[in-house]
Amino acid sequence: MNVQINEKRLLDTFLKLVTIDSESFSEAAMQKYLAEELKKLGCTVYVDKAGKKIGSNAQGNIIASLKGSRAGKPFLLSAHMDTVRPGKGIKPQVKGGRVTSDGTTILASDDKAGVAIALEVLRVLKEKKPDCVSVQVLFTLNEENGMGGAKNLDYSKVKGRDGLILDNESVNELLVQGPEVCDFNVTIEGVAAHAGICPEKGISALEVAAKALSMMKLGRIDKDTVCNFGVICGGEVTNIVTPVVTLKGEARSLYPQKLQKQVKHMKDCFDKAAKAFTKRVDGKTIKPVIKIQTPQRYGALSVPKNAPAVKLIVASAKKFGVKMKLVSSGGGCDANEMCQHGLVMPNVGVGCRQCHTTKEYLDLKEFYQAAAIVLDVVLSYGK
Ligand SMILES: [Zn+2]
Repeated sequence: MNVQINEKRLLDTFLKLVTIDSESFSEAAMQKYLAEELKKLGCTVYVDKAGKKIGSNAQGNIIASLKGSRAGKPFLLSAHMDTVRPGKGIKPQVKGGRVTSDGTTILASDDKAGVAIALEVLRVLKEKKPDCVSVQVLFTLNEENGMGGAKNLDYSKVKGRDGLILDNESVNELLVQGPEVCDFNVTIEGVAAHAGICPEKGISALEVAAKALSMMKLGRIDKDTVCNFGVICGGEVTNIVTPVVTLKGEARSLYPQKLQKQVKHMKDCFDKAAKAFTKRVDGKTIKPVIKIQTPQRYGALSVPKNAPAVKLIVASAKKFGVKMKLVSSGGGCDANEMCQHGLVMPNVGVGCRQCHTTKEYLDLKEFYQAAAIVLDVVLSYGK
């Protein structure tokens, strides 16, 4: 039986999807369109209630299932419905093996190329009815602003464990590892004093911050760990010893233990700075008060090299002449969140490039290869 991707239909689907505006928080039209398409394909479609929680105008994430002939857990395919800006009124142009925008907007191949591939795989399965397991697709809201959709997905409706996220760039790169990220929100309260008359009676929160940062290891800590302070705010006039500053930073590591070590080091530097500025004034001890919050932004992505989806996709890629490399990233994606819920889903490339810019384009050769590989993985799963 000739079970193959229909490249023309896949491209047409993609071109249609990019004309449905779906900037983050405004995914309603896209979500409705996809839910309808999935119903037409014979899927059971469930839309969860995540939209309200994350401030989207859409109802929620889509979890849809297409029943296969074979028993066993369904294979999962996931892509996100939202896009970055400027993503309104996209006019796709197909030329020289590529799809681009007209240069005034993004193209939205991140991640509508992934959505189109998932739909095409379902269309092939419905049309050819090959022997295969059921497939569940997860189309998420608001990936681009910290994976709000994946964070609030109704995981009780997800019946599979193994799968693929279709949201990376090069077709030969499979993302299996990504960092845990810890935010660093710091408020330093010094002591205000007149800078002209009695500066010795004050404690400059700004100097305390400078002291702490000067002692801190920042930037690249090691090959797996990085750290940065990106925002400092405080002070109003030059004749007052700065009473308060706030700082915002972050630390990332592929390994939780390394991250915790770095976070401890950073806290220690603030402690030391506070001690260094503690002093006696008019018979009383004054000291800076430093409040630090370190909430986790998202957990690490860690897919074992011998996970079923990894082994299958490496083998499938080979059949289509693609040598798959397992890679790690310094950023996060839906895979990070899904990993926290026990799903084992590496993130595969769909052929897009220069995402998040108006120069974004989709390489059609890679796009078609990615679709063929994903279909082959679905057909091979659970055999
Ligand atoms: Zn994306």
